Amino acid sequence: MTLLVQKFGGTSLGSIERIKAVAQRIKTSKDNGNDLVVVVSAMGHTTDQLTKLASEISIQPHHREMDMLLSTGEQVSISLLSMALKELGIPAISLTGTQAGIITESAHGRARIIEIRTERINNLLDQGQTLVIAGFQGTSLGIGGIAEITTLGRGGSDTSAVALAASLDAEKCEIYTDVPGVLTTDPRIVKNAQLMKSISCDEMLELASLGAAVLHPRAVEIARNFGVTLVVKSSWDNLDGTTLTSKKNNIYSKGGIEHRSPVDGLELVEHQAVVALSNIPDRPGIAAELFESLSEGGVNVDLIIQATHQYNYNDITFTVAENELNNAYEQCKKLINTIGGEISSQSNLTKLSIYGAGIMGRPGIASSLFQTLSDSGINIRLIATSEVKVSCVIDAELGQKALRSISEVFKLNNKQITLNPIFENNNEPEVRGIALDKDQIQVSVKNVPDKPGTASKICSTLADKNISLDTIVQSERSHKDQTKDISFTLKKNDRSEAKYALEELISNWKGSRLEEGNSIVRISAVGSGMPFTKGTAGKIFRALANQKINIEMIATSEIRTTCIISEKYGEKALNVIHSCFELEKNNSS
Ligand code: ADP
Ligand code: ASP
Ligand code: MG
Repeated sequence: MTLLVQKFGGTSLGSIERIKAVAQRIKTSKDNGNDLVVVVSAMGHTTDQLTKLASEISIQPHHREMDMLLSTGEQVSISLLSMALKELGIPAISLTGTQAGIITESAHGRARIIEIRTERINNLLDQGQTLVIAGFQGTSLGIGGIAEITTLGRGGSDTSAVALAASLDAEKCEIYTDVPGVLTTDPRIVKNAQLMKSISCDEMLELASLGAAVLHPRAVEIARNFGVTLVVKSSWDNLDGTTLTSKKNNIYSKGGIEHRSPVDGLELVEHQAVVALSNIPDRPGIAAELFESLSEGGVNVDLIIQATHQYNYNDITFTVAENELNNAYEQCKKLINTIGGEISSQSNLTKLSIYGAGIMGRPGIASSLFQTLSDSGINIRLIATSEVKVSCVIDAELGQKALRSISEVFKLNNKQITLNPIFENNNEPEVRGIALDKDQIQVSVKNVPDKPGTASKICSTLADKNISLDTIVQSERSHKDQTKDISFTLKKNDRSEAKYALEELISNWKGSRLEEGNSIVRISAVGSGMPFTKGTAGKIFRALANQKINIEMIATSEIRTTCIISEKYGEKALNVIHSCFELEKNNSS
């Protein structure tokens, strides 16, 4: 018999009729000769409703009690679905996360799965039972072995399902939802978003962590690390949906499902150069003009960073391979001659990045990376981050020293360290999908001391309050007083606590001040072909400029370009970027 794990989300279980329809679908799979482990979310908007109830009692509800409350949502679904299956004559049994042996960390509200003790599940499967397991929850063994109910974080049922598939060696994990699969962007906002037949786990990880709610990013990470075949499809029809593909298979032992080291690997890219344009005009079209002329000049740009503007001027900094520096410099000089501003460059640099979905929601990780570099006396020239990757540009001579101390701190073995990774060009599209994240605000800390340890202090101050920073951008511009600016985004919910903590910190730095930006959204284009295609960033910036949308901040990684723009333009921007890459014509690859 083939073992399948099937997960049904809240939208697929919104009513009794839907639960009966899901039971019918499970019966069909069963009749086709499969063994089934079914994972379910809470019905419809139950989790939102429970959260609202709690907020009516307390502004900051106690984390343990919150897990106790939210876990009830899934318990309703498992029992009702089991009843519906029994009505169809299918032997079925419901299990909570605890009963299913899902062991997690003790961090309430964001617990990671440590292991799944599969004995009970396997025994029940041997007895011919169909198992209906509550997603999104588990149990921590607690201090002194006292069990506590934990939850994994919003959207976490996907993670429960993939973790079960990995632990049980299931043939496949199918995520059933209210859309036909993974689309080029959110179909609720872009009407002509197209279904992708397949997408790589790396691309999906970026999209999922930057707003594409269709999959929980940690589920993607587990599928990638354990080689789980993961498919996303509609619970309304019988079409094929989207298959996630990955190159790395079974590289981790089964023990630590969301293995305890939050960092998957470290990458060092040598022979990098930085070009910094400063005091250039801050208006729509400048970034487009710059990156269009670079691409016309044959320059392939890697990281691009634009911190928040100062008065009506802006800085844009980017990295290129050292051998492209002269060409890049010439192109920039031509532009500066017409628009004004200054240009500087530096070669002999190394880009160092740590990555892994475990970085998400763990603010201490970026902070300890910066602290490690600072302890080794290494100044960070540039920082660029996504939720799953933190990149720093440092002096080349310090590369090996940095590598040694970082691999020690994050306990990375040789297999996890890549020097000058070679990206395989498989003629993938430059942009496969676009995500919109409306849940962030932008903050800048102006005039911070330009010396090792500053970024680390900001991050650790927030990490102590369990606040995560995203899209951290350290400007290249040094003010006359040898200070710099650091900008970042953070979750809207964390706004007031972050402000309080930062104000206390910067009171130690003379002349430093906090600046909250306007309401913003993050919009990110993702594609594995991006590193091999010149001009992707230019196209995005042009599409925004044509709509007179100014870009507040830019941050990129190899396969992603993120722009931070005013909230009011978010949906329009998503539509224009979608059509500038002709994604509505996507006939899927
Ligand atoms: P479930 O309840 O099944 O877990 P979710 O609401 O968590 O469903 O996720 C499905 C939703 O994700 C879709 O209704 C869609 O609006 C949204 N979404 C955002 N980006 C994408 C995308 N790229 N592809 C498909 N759906 C997306
Ligand atoms: N019910 C939980 C939530 O709404 C988990 C999930 O749906 O995946 O976040
Ligand atoms: Mg979901």
